Amino acid sequence: MSEIHQKPIPNLPKSDLPKLVILGAGFAGLKLARNLKNQPFQVILLDKNNFHQFQPLFYQVATAGLEPSAISFPLRKIFHNSKNVTFRMAEVARLDADRKRVFTDMGFLDYDYLVLALGADTNYFGSETIEHFASPMKTVSEALYIRNKIISNYERAVNIERMEDRKSLMNMVIVGGGPTGVELAGAMAELRNNVFPKDYPELSFKNMKVVLIEAGPALLGTMSKEAQEHALDYLTKLGVEVMVETKVKDYNGKVVSLEGGEILETDTLLWAAGIKPNKIGGFSDEMFAPNGRILVDEFSEVTGMSNVFVLGDGSLLKEDRFPRGHPQVAQTALQQAENLAKNLLRDKKGQPRKPFRYKDLGSMATVGRKLAVVDLPFFKFQGFFAWLTWLLVHLMAILGVKNKLFIFLNWSWNYLSFDPSLRLLIKPRYVRASERKEPIEQKTTD
Ligand SMILES: Cc1cc2nc3c(=O)[nH]c(=O)nc-3n(C[C@H](O)[C@H](O)[C@H](O)COP(=O)(O)OP(=O)(O)OC[C@H]3O[C@@H](n4cnc5c(N)ncnc54)[C@H](O)[C@@H]3O)c2cc1C
Repeated sequence: MSEIHQKPIPNLPKSDLPKLVILGAGFAGLKLARNLKNQPFQVILLDKNNFHQFQPLFYQVATAGLEPSAISFPLRKIFHNSKNVTFRMAEVARLDADRKRVFTDMGFLDYDYLVLALGADTNYFGSETIEHFASPMKTVSEALYIRNKIISNYERAVNIERMEDRKSLMNMVIVGGGPTGVELAGAMAELRNNVFPKDYPELSFKNMKVVLIEAGPALLGTMSKEAQEHALDYLTKLGVEVMVETKVKDYNGKVVSLEGGEILETDTLLWAAGIKPNKIGGFSDEMFAPNGRILVDEFSEVTGMSNVFVLGDGSLLKEDRFPRGHPQVAQTALQQAENLAKNLLRDKKGQPRKPFRYKDLGSMATVGRKLAVVDLPFFKFQGFFAWLTWLLVHLMAILGVKNKLFIFLNWSWNYLSFDPSLRLLIKPRYVRASERKEPIEQKTTD
């Protein structure tokens, strides 16, 4: 975080309307800003990126199925026709609730209402070595880094003579058997089975492992037994080695050590095992639950602060049906944002606020190119029809007509040709060999 400027953020439009500042333009923050478009609030939306990211499809960027631009959307464009919403790219650092002020790397900003929607980051559960060597997937740039890393590993592997010495470059280990881990493992196995053997005919893929490790007793722990069993069956048929009730102890960039003493050789450890909420300063310890989520009431307001709200992955509302909080998924973030937008408008009209009630719309995960598992509240199904449902739901959820069209064309092409065409190793900057500080063979991606 760069130095926090002690001056107000300049050039913001003047307005007599109450100022609502939204921190974070992910699922919750963006939904709230869109629902309050052209309503009687001055809305200032801040995010450290100038684009919205569609996280459920990160794994397709990582596995060369989609361009990063297909799942990212420029925030300014969304508010072209809005009179009351202003976007600023700024990283938020701290809140001063007494002065009703937030501090960012672009200056400070005063508010009447403040909404935190900062999402979550990867949780390594305290292991510094795993954090250092593993590859997370919580941003579109991290997904792109994974794509570069995998392709660059293969470009290196073809130049290594002995099969034994190539193993760790070719193997992939994914930690975390939730939807992200399952989707990554399925897509990686399909690359291994169908695409890489044609790209790298010099290499033998019989020995290349795709391993999925889960600490709990089953994959997709929050889904139905049918979904869990089918996902395991689909992955096994694709040749993924699934290890449940297995904990990773450490990773040194080459070797994964498991708690039982077993080891796995890999240069690529993809970490999809946990999340922790993004934090800013200005909150006291008792405002947080032990898992780092901020405790809120049924109107998403922070207990002990007036007109400060938290939405999405960073908030925790305890209710009878969800004593440990609502699931940290897009639907929770979207529904909370919708309820808060309505309550803020009710405040204006002097009407009472309505409490948030989570509506479970179900969950799903896809395994490879044409199979998926879907749990709806009253109906569960798996297989090809589930995969079509998954495609449709994700296509509808993506922002922008151009993005929908591009993704639809990409998916159709990949389905028919089985050949995702984005296996490009695009590095941010070319570094001449004479300028490189490390030996070339240690450089994976820039
Ligand atoms: C790989 C992956 C796959 C997923 N798949 C699914 C799925 O299939 N279905 C599903 O329902 N959910 C899925 N999720 C979870 C879902 O994406 C989250 O629950 C949802 O994004 C939470 O919304 P949010 O608004 O709380 O946070 P986010 O959508 O994460 O948005 C947070 C925003 O805050 C910004 N930000 C963070 N810190 C700062 C700061 N200090 N200053 C300024 N801006 C900041 C970020 O740039 C980001 O734009 C997935 C998540 C991941 C990582």
